[in-house]
Amino acid sequence: MEIADVAVIGGGPAGASAAREAVGRGLSTLLFDHAHPRRKACGGGLPVKGIEWMDAPEEAIECRMTSISFAYGGTKLKVPVTKGKMVRRDDWDHYLFQRAAEAGAMHVKERVKQLERKDGAWVINGEYRARYVIGADGVNGFTRRHFMGPIPRQHLFAAAGYYLGLKPVENEVEFILGAIPGEGYLWIFPKADHYNIGYCYNAGTPGMKQALHRLMQERWPGEFVAPGKYRLATGEEVECLQFGSAIPSYNDPALFDTPVSGESWVLVGDAAGHVNPIHGEGLNHAALGGRLAARAIAEGDPTRFEEYWREHYAQEMYRAATSKRRVYRPLFMRLGFALGGTPAVFGLLAKLTRGEYEGRAMRNFWLRLPLALLQALFGMRHRGLVSA
Ligand SMILES: Cc1cc2nc3c(=O)[nH]c(=O)nc-3n(C[C@H](O)[C@H](O)[C@H](O)COP(=O)(O)OP(=O)(O)OC[C@H]3O[C@@H](n4cnc5c(N)ncnc54)[C@H](O)[C@@H]3O)c2cc1C
Repeated sequence: MEIADVAVIGGGPAGASAAREAVGRGLSTLLFDHAHPRRKACGGGLPVKGIEWMDAPEEAIECRMTSISFAYGGTKLKVPVTKGKMVRRDDWDHYLFQRAAEAGAMHVKERVKQLERKDGAWVINGEYRARYVIGADGVNGFTRRHFMGPIPRQHLFAAAGYYLGLKPVENEVEFILGAIPGEGYLWIFPKADHYNIGYCYNAGTPGMKQALHRLMQERWPGEFVAPGKYRLATGEEVECLQFGSAIPSYNDPALFDTPVSGESWVLVGDAAGHVNPIHGEGLNHAALGGRLAARAIAEGDPTRFEEYWREHYAQEMYRAATSKRRVYRPLFMRLGFALGGTPAVFGLLAKLTRGEYEGRAMRNFWLRLPLALLQALFGMRHRGLVSA
């Protein structure tokens, strides 16, 4: 049996990016995925931060974000943005997957169920052999459980929602905070011909689905008349398909200390837990992480991946895991939104939202607090604030 250089397990953004990079670096590559083409449960918002890491052609882009807004207790802060893109996950993933296949990665349409180390190589499903394995099969998939054990439930977001078949009136990405007690949010994302709406909270938070249904009633009064069918108060019936999955969301920064690689394997994307713990965005790290893993393997040492991912996005992950609890605290939310429109705080919020802020945002917020209080007292508003 011939031995491939690399077996990439999972053909989502992380796996497809890894496979394409591996082939580009002269490695013979097997790409295992039983499910392609498929539509992954996802908001499909390409994060503003690291947008340049994600290769997305025009045909996979549904729309471009014009603003990102945050709402809490009746206050809305809306930040104009120019860089964010919305994709359909089936289209975008298919594009990345095809790029890997065209480059020369060999697709094996099988679910990986077995991985053994024999005579210095990996034997996959008892049949295929490879020197290295890249595990890119998503949150708590086969490779994560095999190499590191599952991510515990207390470090996962539960994320679910609906594709609501109404054409958006504006390309505004909305985050609604404080709908229920807990760490997380509701979202409304614009797509070409529908809204992608959902909730994202620590797994096990009570009342997530009910909170989303209340939001739907406020925005689009109506009722479900059958699974996947929603009848608006006007009598119009629209498609409303459900989706849902888990997202890694580390509540303890120490979890990022554990290596996600060994001498002949690497985990990337959700399998590695490489998702921002505060808001659950992972597409940027999946796309870049896949490439960095392939680079480490091409250099003959998968553990170099630790150095590479840390250089590019570890700081953001550690900071988010450290401040997640504080950010979602009601006191912080109340203060942040009461002062969010002032020049002292809105500039910081806008930079953070646009992915342009590199410093310690929490610390900076507390430092700006006295000035923001004064500005609020004199009714000063930032001129970039779209609406409040
Ligand atoms: C509801 C929801 C909304 C989200 N919204 C956003 C968002 O708007 N923006 C953002 O940046 N992130 C978002 N995320 C997170 C984002 O979807 C993930 O971070 C991203 O998909 C991770 O990519 P991946 O390639 O690591 O894994 P995945 O996209 O999960 O791909 C894993 C692949 O592995 C395959 N696979 C699984 N098991 C096996 C096996 N045993 N053998 C072979 N193949 C296997 C699967 O078929 C799949 O193709 C959201 C997540 C959820 C759940």
